[in-house]
Amino acid sequence: MSVPYRPDKHGNPVSILGYGCMRFTQKAGRIDIDKTEKELLAAIDAGVNYFDTAYVYPGSETALGEILERNGLRDKVNIATKLPHYLIKSRESMEKTFAEELRRLRTDHVDYYLMHMLTDDKTWGRLCELGIEDWLSEKKRSGQIRQVGFSYHGNSDTFKALVDAYDWDFCQIQYNYLDEHSQAGRTGLDYAAAKGLAVIIMEPLRGGRLVNNLPAEAQKLFDSYGEKRSPAEWASRWLWDQEAVTCVLSGMNSLDMVRENVRAAERAGAGCMTEAERALLQKVVTALNANMRVGCTGCRYCMPCPKNVDIPGTFAAWNRCGTDGRFRGMYDYAMCTALRRDSTAASNCVECGKCEQHCPQHIAIRRELKNARKEMEGPLYKLARKAIQIVMRY
Ligand code: SF4
Ligand code: SF4
Repeated sequence: MSVPYRPDKHGNPVSILGYGCMRFTQKAGRIDIDKTEKELLAAIDAGVNYFDTAYVYPGSETALGEILERNGLRDKVNIATKLPHYLIKSRESMEKTFAEELRRLRTDHVDYYLMHMLTDDKTWGRLCELGIEDWLSEKKRSGQIRQVGFSYHGNSDTFKALVDAYDWDFCQIQYNYLDEHSQAGRTGLDYAAAKGLAVIIMEPLRGGRLVNNLPAEAQKLFDSYGEKRSPAEWASRWLWDQEAVTCVLSGMNSLDMVRENVRAAERAGAGCMTEAERALLQKVVTALNANMRVGCTGCRYCMPCPKNVDIPGTFAAWNRCGTDGRFRGMYDYAMCTALRRDSTAASNCVECGKCEQHCPQHIAIRRELKNARKEMEGPLYKLARKAIQIVMRY
């Protein structure tokens, strides 16, 4: 058996299980090449053909390039890597960064090239002013870049604007059964897929939240199901069940993990989940959310805010402080409110009350934004926001 494939925008087969190359095993401060090689070869042998790395993942492009070259496997797989657009100041720096990536990857082309963590259409606009569209067209013509996409953490409205801003071939979003209505969410996934984009999924396990230290109630629910599956398989099946999902990335760093993921992928397909299984996962979501700060569903009826506050994004991050720990929540909050030219922070709120009229959950949004702000907008956040805005202005 082999891992199944789904077509990308141009009909090329992409394995539904992708290899995330950010978490290769380290030994003495460097990537353990021999161990990583065994894991990569096992995945390729099982049919995995999508490998996701990035310029800023330490040592990852170099390790991937070395392993593929010494096994003569470059032409058997697709390499996806990313332009750190936040470091790009000119067309020359695009060229220099890309050339460095080709050198590290020991290849003459990149199959899937992403703008790394594109935050909004304004950030894309800045790159356009530097001539990126022209540069990408030239790279596509020469065959050095086969397909162009972007990776994204943010809300669904901004995501749609970004999808519309360029003729993308694919995109990469954070998506899992706990984030169905946050970040780009199901709305964003369906929107991108309807436009023909291949959609690559990152964080399918929500950074481990869906497999580690599960609440007893959630584990009990999984245990009660007739067929035994690991929490990771449940999470992946939920994604593969959806036809709009092209490929699910997994940061594999053990042979057991490769084998388990391959086995799960071989047994999955669009429409693979029953109604009873979906209902069980809904109950798991309730158990996982028991420590939430606020009952926001991410429906976005309260948006847009005249002061640019990302209300659902703020509440999703604040909830994460309760469910996944304060550090993780604050990280999400910084990603969704500070990592952009115009802040979308809770502190922009002027308490006009417009949003509260539309909230079906009757959340006291103004009061809860103040509470969220108290927990998440500490001195470190303010400092980071200032620094990011200075960098983004240039
Ligand atoms: S109350 Fe605050 S968050 Fe709500 S719409 Fe007004 S400014 Fe925006
Ligand atoms: S309307 Fe209410 S539930 Fe919906 S996103 Fe806004 S705050 Fe959350």
